[in-house]
This record gives sequence, structure tokens and C-alpha cells, in this order.
Amino acid sequence: MLEKARELLKRVYGYDTFRPGQEDIIGGILDGSDTLAILPTGGGKSVCYQIPALTLTGTTLVISPLISLMKDQVDSLLRLGVPAAYLNSSLGAAEYREVLRGAMDGEYKLLYVAPERLDAPMFGTLSERMRIPLIAIDEAHCVSQWGHDFRPSYRQLAGWIGRMEDRPLVAAFTATATPEVSRDIADMLALRRPRIYVTGFARPNLSLSVVSGTDKKAFLSRFLTERADQSGIIYAATRKETEAVHAELLRRGIPAGKYHGGLGDAERAEAQEKFRFDDYRVMVATNAFGMGIDKPNVRFVLHWQVPGDLESYYQEAGRAGRDGEESECILLFEPQDLQVQRYLIEQGTGDDDRKAVQLSKLYAMMNFGRTERCLQQFIVDYFGEKGVEPCGKCSNCLDKSERVDRTAEAQKALSCVGRMKGKFGVTTVAKVLKGSRDKRVIQFGLDRLSTYGLLRNWPEKEIADWLYWLVAEGYLKMSEGAYPTVSLTAAALPVLEGKTSVVRRQRTSVRRSAGAAAVHDTPLFEALRQWRKETAAAEGVPPFMLFFDATLRELTD
Ligand code: ADP
Ligand code: MG
Ligand code: ZN
Repeated sequence: MLEKARELLKRVYGYDTFRPGQEDIIGGILDGSDTLAILPTGGGKSVCYQIPALTLTGTTLVISPLISLMKDQVDSLLRLGVPAAYLNSSLGAAEYREVLRGAMDGEYKLLYVAPERLDAPMFGTLSERMRIPLIAIDEAHCVSQWGHDFRPSYRQLAGWIGRMEDRPLVAAFTATATPEVSRDIADMLALRRPRIYVTGFARPNLSLSVVSGTDKKAFLSRFLTERADQSGIIYAATRKETEAVHAELLRRGIPAGKYHGGLGDAERAEAQEKFRFDDYRVMVATNAFGMGIDKPNVRFVLHWQVPGDLESYYQEAGRAGRDGEESECILLFEPQDLQVQRYLIEQGTGDDDRKAVQLSKLYAMMNFGRTERCLQQFIVDYFGEKGVEPCGKCSNCLDKSERVDRTAEAQKALSCVGRMKGKFGVTTVAKVLKGSRDKRVIQFGLDRLSTYGLLRNWPEKEIADWLYWLVAEGYLKMSEGAYPTVSLTAAALPVLEGKTSVVRRQRTSVRRSAGAAAVHDTPLFEALRQWRKETAAAEGVPPFMLFFDATLRELTD
């Protein structure tokens, strides 16, 4: 079986070796197992269901959420000589009927279907009239309410699959799933004793950086000048910002395209093509751009603003370096940009539970922006992978700036939070630490505690910043929900007992006043440049692969 798979990889795709995980996943499917595979973006998930599809008798149904993604995949399959087609709303009525007829006649090895196109009768017709050995569900996190891109139509699908008379194998794929999301995917899709594959989330060829307190425009100009021949994506939070950044690039004579939900289909398709073929060096886009874009030589992804959660961040950032070459991911992190995301969540369509989940995800994103830990480690930790070594090349690993002992200030903040018994949010704690006699402080009966004014020499805003930092470093935690409260974690106790000290990087406000040009002259960026030079030729380490031949139940128990 695997011989055949390897032969297909070579013959159809022209690749000599499998990427980490691919061979095991394909082997598992061909052995007849339901599958849940979590592979990083660019890890090569498509091959994992396409090769089984080529081997199995009948037509593999691929559920895929985005029209642009389907078209890309089907086009490249056709180029490779594999009969494939898609059913989605971009087809005219005649085309649609034609594809449907072809599908009934078994003309395709793979049929991509948008979940929105599948209603119960349609699904019934397909499953009765076609021979379907395998249903592959791409971007499977869309099935989970805990995921970052929940789609109700994915949910319905699960029920129909469960009721199929001759249920095919089901294989679910995603790049971004925390342990709870993967459990949810397997439950929702009712996978049967699935084999679960998790490859390492670390992307050794990406250098992650967080840049704060900078003049963004000046930073961008400098950044792009230094990378004169490189292709990259700039993600902005809103259409308006996308337009503004795009206009700025054109003013500077940089061939740039734009992509967001406010543009017509044709305009977007054209921008995507031009970017793919390097007519545009840079694409400025909202998160509407990208799921499934497959451009190997994206050398950088720059986030103009912080996105709403780490899943989205890592998925977007992960579009850099799909060819395995060294690439950069830069997040321009300004705490006030979090307000934009907060607003988007609050104005969004989700119910209250959903919004509470989204807000807690936003806090995790905020912690990423503030942490002084290795950024790669922080992310893989978030996805449930422990014990990964610091990457040695993110902006935190390379930051050699002076550390200051802040144990005393930490003890003050932590003891105050402790006394407030986890009932109050950051703003109120900051007021009490400041020694405020604000109406709210008195109303909550906190005026006694407030008279200490433990951090009275600091501006209230810096006290809040300090509290958020303590959250980011894991000494404090925030509750979920729209009005999160802060409380102590286990890590706070040794600090309060004087057994461990707390050191913090020299305050960022020092750098803030230094301005944008100076940021690039900091030791950090010098170190980044140096590191890049040295490793330009070296090869990246392939991500480490874990394989659990376990049922989900064993995992959850
Ligand atoms: P994902 O869906 O996991 O993000 P894709 O399936 O789109 O990733 O694959 C990313 C890129 O990697 C594609 O260009 C694909 O052709 C390429 N690729 C997949 N498998 C291999 C392999 N074994 N060797 C080399 N390139 C591969
Ligand atoms: Mg994919
Ligand atoms: Zn690091």
C-alpha cells in the first residue's frame, strides 16, 4: 500500500519524500481508520487525502470551506492529470448540473463540495448515487464552536454522515486545534475510533517577532526597503486599514495588491493571481485572504494589527515560508489595537457564550504580545504541545536588553490581587494599587485596602500594564467572559513567599520614545539580521512528529 502511495507521490506530484506525518496518515486511512490529523499550515494536508483518493475505488468527497481554495485545488489536480471537480456557488446552473451528472457517472476521483451547498436532500442524492469510499473534511476546526472559525453548516454535515447507510471512512484535517478543539472535532463528526495524528506545531523556519511602541509607517517603510525583492503579506484588522496601508505602499512605488471582503469576486481573484505570480510583491489584506492560498515563496507576513486570537495569528503567520525557507513573521503589537478586536467581537453575530470564548481567546493573544518567553514556545504551548525548547531566534530569544528585578512590585501587585479574592478586574485592581478614592473603589468597600496605595508612584495606566504583564507571564490569570476578573495562579505563591524573583525587561516606554528608526538599530534587530545571514544556507529541522494510535476516549480519560 505504502509503496503505491510513494509511487503516486513521485509520479503524480513529482515529490521524492513525504513530509513528516504524511506517510503515517495515508497509511492509516488506507488501513481503514477514521482519522483526525492536525498538521501545521503548509504541512501538506491535501496530499494526505488526495493520495488515498487516488488509490481507493470511487469518488472521495472533500468538504472544504472556501470557494477560492476549491478552485485552486481542483485546478492543480487537473494539471496533474487527476479527474476532479467542485460544486459550489461560483458555478452557473448549467455547469452545476454538468458536474453533478459527472459525479453520478463516477467521472471524478475527487469531488470538492462547499458545506453550504449541501442540504439534506443533496447529500442524500450524492451518497445514494455515488460510490464514496472516503469523506475528507478540510479545515475541520470549522465544525467546533470552540474553534476560531465556526461554521454551522459543518455541524449539520456530521449528522448526515452518521446516518449514511454505508458509511465511508472519515478523515478530518486542520492546522489549528487546541486539545479541546480536537476533542470537539472528533465528537462532532462522530469519528469512529479515530487515529489521531499531531505533528509538531513548531515551524523552525519562521522567525517570530513582536514589535511594540513604534511608528508603524516608518517601520514598514524601512522594513520593505530592507527586503526589496521579497514577497510578503500584510494583514490588517479592517477593510479601512487595508485600504490605507495599500494606498501608502502604492505611494511608495511598491507593487502591492489588496484583498478584503468589500471587493468584488473578480477583483479579489485577480489580486490573488497577481500575487501568486509575483506581479504584486506585497498583498495587503484582511483575514479574508489566505485560507488555502498556496504560494510557497512568501518570505514575510506582517501583522499591521493584532488579530483576534492565536489560532488566526498562527494560521496567517504560517503562510510565510511554506517552501521551508527562512521567513519572518512580525506582529506590530499595540495594546490599543486590542480594542478593535474587542469591538469586532462585541458587534459580532455570536451569542453570549460564543463571545465569552472569543474574548478569552483575545486575552491569550494579548498575552502573546506581552510575553517575554520564547514566542514559538508560547504558541506551541497554547496548542497543547509541551516541552519544546526555546527557538533561539524569535524577538524574545534574541532580546538581550537589560532585565530589572521587579520582585517587590510583583509582590505588591500579587498581594493586592490576593486580598481582592479574584472578584475584580484589572482596572479596579489598578485603582486600588494606585490608592485611588474613586467612587467605584468606595462603593465596592475597597477604600481601606486602597489607602495603602502600594504602587502609588506609578501612573494608573502603567499599573494596569504591569498587571497584564503578570498575566502574560502566568503569575495571574484572567477569568473568561466579558468582564474578566484577575486572580492568583500557583506561580504567584513562591513570589509572595520570597522564594523566586521576578525580572522584567527594561521598560518598553524607553524604546517607545526612541522612535521607529531607532527600533531597527536596536541590538534585537541587529541580532536578527546577523542570525539570518548565518543561517541563510542551513536547512531547517523537520517538525517533530508525534503519533498517537489511540482512541479519543483514551485521550480524554
Ligand atoms: P496545508 O493544507 O497543510 O496547509 P498543502 O496541502 O496546501 O498544505 O501543501 C502545502 C505545499 O506543500 C503545497 O505546495 C504542496 O504541494 C507541498 N507539498 C505537500 N507534500 C509535499 C511533499 N511530500 N514534498 C514536497 N512538497 C509537498
Ligand atoms: Mg490546506
Ligand atoms: Zn524563541
